[in-house]
Amino acid sequence: MNDKVHLGHRARKRFGQNFLHDTSIIDKIVTAIDPKPGDNLVEIGPGLGAITEPVAELTDHLTVVELDKDLAHRLIHHPFLADKLTVHQGDAMQFDFASLINDERKLKVFGNLPYNVSTPLLFHLFEFYQNIEHMHFMLQKEVVKRMVASPDSKAFGRLSVMTQYYCHAMPVIDVPPECFKPAPKVDSAVIRLIPKSPDQLKAKSTKILNTVCLEAFNQRRKTIRNSLSNLLTPEEIENLGLDLKLRAENLSLDTFVKIANWIYDNKQ
Ligand code: SAM
Repeated sequence: MNDKVHLGHRARKRFGQNFLHDTSIIDKIVTAIDPKPGDNLVEIGPGLGAITEPVAELTDHLTVVELDKDLAHRLIHHPFLADKLTVHQGDAMQFDFASLINDERKLKVFGNLPYNVSTPLLFHLFEFYQNIEHMHFMLQKEVVKRMVASPDSKAFGRLSVMTQYYCHAMPVIDVPPECFKPAPKVDSAVIRLIPKSPDQLKAKSTKILNTVCLEAFNQRRKTIRNSLSNLLTPEEIENLGLDLKLRAENLSLDTFVKIANWIYDNKQ
């Protein structure tokens, strides 16, 4: 049997289409999302509806954002789902999630994300952290590891710092390749993200925080004396109380924020 055709649809690699078919994994994801009537639920990349259908059974309305025109069309005409769904055909990376806020109800966002664009999509979603109650995403396991990594580990990088800046992040379950059609070449995992409250976020400019991370991790094997040389002199680094011999992976989230705020206060 052709592994690429599922429920009459040929999977499109360019859209990162790997369709979930394992019902026990789908049940666990739905339990983690815990949908209820009245919730402001949003799914990114509903595809053929593997998660959409069981979530829709537990609630009265669901918004979905799907890039593939054929799949969006299928959902608009879905025999059981159509009444409960608002389908936006388009790119979730361009989508204004704040536009979905009604009655001040924060969003519960979920999705089995297209792995080829998962990192930029996560960064786009972080911008809406104030509008979101929680997020549950299926991602490449490797990406989940990076998101929850602690300093002094190889996996700790810009994605760890920015994820943990905006959210409390917890892995939920590991998912092997055979749970999808077609099976991806990599292991997957589901992560739960709970955005922090604005008073917990201390960066004066997230743009500068992101720039500091980019510079520091771009040359992660170098000491911060060298990797941060475009932003800070060795003297300035020492004045911040940091050892010049440290590497980016040795700095905590709070230290990244401290560096970014110093640059904001002194170099803007
Ligand atoms: N949710 C389905 C499932 O679990 O079987 C499909 C998951 S599949 C890994 C990713 C889905 O995201 C596909 O339906 C794909 O067409 C859609 N997609 C890809 N890029 C997208 C984007 N930029 N914005 C919205 N949807 C996208």
